[in-house]
Amino acid sequence: MTAIETAIGEPDWRRAADLIHGAGTLALACHVSPDGDALGSMLGLGLALARSGKKVVASFGDRVLEVPRLLRFLPGQDLLVKAAAYPAEPDLMITFDASTMERLGLLAPHAGKARELVVIDHHVSNTRFGTAHLVDPSAASTTMVVEELIHRLGLPVDRSVATCLYAGLVTDTGSFRHSVTTPAAHAMAGRLLETGLRPEELARELWDRSPYAYLRVLGAALGRATLEPDAAGGHGLVWTFVSRADRAAEGLPYDEVEGVIDVVRRVDEAEVAVVLKEDDDGGWNVSTRSKGVVDVARACAALGGGGHARAAGFSSALAVPDTMAALRPLLTPPLLTPPLLTPPPPRTEP
Ligand code: 5GP
Ligand code: MN
Repeated sequence: MTAIETAIGEPDWRRAADLIHGAGTLALACHVSPDGDALGSMLGLGLALARSGKKVVASFGDRVLEVPRLLRFLPGQDLLVKAAAYPAEPDLMITFDASTMERLGLLAPHAGKARELVVIDHHVSNTRFGTAHLVDPSAASTTMVVEELIHRLGLPVDRSVATCLYAGLVTDTGSFRHSVTTPAAHAMAGRLLETGLRPEELARELWDRSPYAYLRVLGAALGRATLEPDAAGGHGLVWTFVSRADRAAEGLPYDEVEGVIDVVRRVDEAEVAVVLKEDDDGGWNVSTRSKGVVDVARACAALGGGGHARAAGFSSALAVPDTMAALRPLLTPPLLTPPLLTPPPPRTEP
């Protein structure tokens, strides 16, 4: 038995499948500022359903409906409609990778008015805000739940669907590096590769390309990275920020700075890494990562955000020093229970 079959009960699978089979139009929505898992899970199921003859619309509730450049290679984007064209009171709405209704942004009111609301997610913090729930915290990505659902609906996974699902799987596992990389995650990757999708093409789209302006902005952000060895209960904190002025100086769109945290979090001397990113409206989105001692989801939840124990985030309207002053005292051990990983010993200087 796979983890997915144990975490979601048979009645839940059946109810979700019955709702989907019985629905006329399906209204799909993923969380705002969608990442590979949010868009990949939504478009993967959307494509599979559309090809079976279902009427499908998909969207996300950002002020402007713009797919991040890194994800524009994903198939199925013809399913996307603006919030204005989205059903106000959907018969059946399905949400993807959103742990709360608020994460749906502009589409939260639509979810509130949906007759049936199927919530598909893998966040342990999911508030079960729907009328049916396929929520598996043991799944590495929401696309793992979606793959199982497609299978249970009796629909095929062709190369386009597989590309969407694989995008979610590789992004949320950090290319099969994070602790969520289970045998089930690799087994799913194997099934998806059977469709002929090219992993090197996805990897290049997702991680190995950016405009020159990114190097300039990354350089500025890294140049001001601050190491605080005594923070995070003495386990160390490294943090930096990317302002909209930094981006404006180089003409770099907001969605290009997603990867800065992946450079900052490699610092050996810090248990916790934080990158504050200012959007075009002057609001800040804060990315946090830990190596397994500090539960950053708990810290971010205390500031109105959420996520996973080792990867979480929140939004802030405060100035950078004030946001850090609010966050710093929350970055405390105890060890995650159960400990997922023994942190590596600090490197000793020769
Ligand atoms: P990232 O730093 O890559 O944007 O987000 C890391 C994780 O934290 C993701 O799993 C995402 O779902 C979660 N996350 C990021 N920002 C927020 C937020 O404002 N609210 C909630 N609930 N979760 C967030
Ligand atoms: Mn996810």
